[in-house]
Amino acid sequence: MGRGFVVGAGFSFALLAHSFAQQVELARESPPQPVAAPAFSGVDEEVKERASEALPSLVHYNRPAAPKITAEQMRKAGALARQKIENETRLQAARAAEAARRFVAASQATQARQSRISEPSLSQAINLRTETAFTKLANGFDFPIGKPDAQGYYKARGFHSHGHLGEDWDGIRGGDTDFGDPIYSIGEGVVVFARDCHMGWGNVVIIRHAFRENGMIKSIDSLYGHLNTILVQRGRPVSRGEKIGTMGTAHGIYDAHLHFEIRKNLEIGMSRAAFARDLSNYYDPTKFISAHRQLSPARGSYRIAMNTFTRDASIRWTERRNYSHSTSRGTSESAAALKRAVASQH
Ligand SMILES: [Zn+2]
Repeated sequence: MGRGFVVGAGFSFALLAHSFAQQVELARESPPQPVAAPAFSGVDEEVKERASEALPSLVHYNRPAAPKITAEQMRKAGALARQKIENETRLQAARAAEAARRFVAASQATQARQSRISEPSLSQAINLRTETAFTKLANGFDFPIGKPDAQGYYKARGFHSHGHLGEDWDGIRGGDTDFGDPIYSIGEGVVVFARDCHMGWGNVVIIRHAFRENGMIKSIDSLYGHLNTILVQRGRPVSRGEKIGTMGTAHGIYDAHLHFEIRKNLEIGMSRAAFARDLSNYYDPTKFISAHRQLSPARGSYRIAMNTFTRDASIRWTERRNYSHSTSRGTSESAAALKRAVASQH
């Protein structure tokens, strides 16, 4: 009898365990089934605790007189508990991300302050508050290629009022053999513009120079266009004969040459269409340089305005728009000009 009891009890226990397993399974995937409270003993303690927080009126696990609860209620409570944990995890992740973002921003601000401090030449060159810079007065001007006298280069196109407002300079070796040749600042000055202007112009550098003439301080802008590379930044002081870039093709739309201008009007920038295309705004470059090769030496520095190209504000530099000075495509080289140049240098 004792043995029979043990077997029977064992069998009953096995049956109970089996049915318990079924109940747990049902609780997750089957329609609502009545479940006795003790069946919750297997639920994770933390989930249970959070479930009671989430559904205080529905589930009271820890009270002795807890009412019976359905599997569906349990499933809902579990889902709510999981949702709450997920929400809190997300909240913590968001807080951590925000803290990281603030830390990075603070680090960048510190780095920016430090870099400003460690670049005294730049901070001296540009006074951001007033947008002015200091330059030495030019002691004379040279040609921008084959310095100082354009040795090895010839003028393929000259200056013409209401036409070509600058000069095109090519190497006498012909073709694109001058591609990448050095381009020099014609005199002491400060870079007021240096960027890729895209179609028609390519890379452009504009340098502002101050010089004394007939007892007066005068200013000009020298412009270097179609560059293959730009070696200076806006705000940088440059010296006479300093290499500022290399000869290019304006991204392959011309043969390699330098388009070079000298402006007496300092407001033109890249907005030539807004200004009269004549000697009221421009100099003939060769005539100007030839007349200003040597100026009386001057000491000290002169303050110049940096931000005078107000008309440029409306230009969208990234647009594939044609800012070209020339309406005709193709080579700027004139066979006759090349022949004359070669003949004159031999
Ligand atoms: Zn040109």
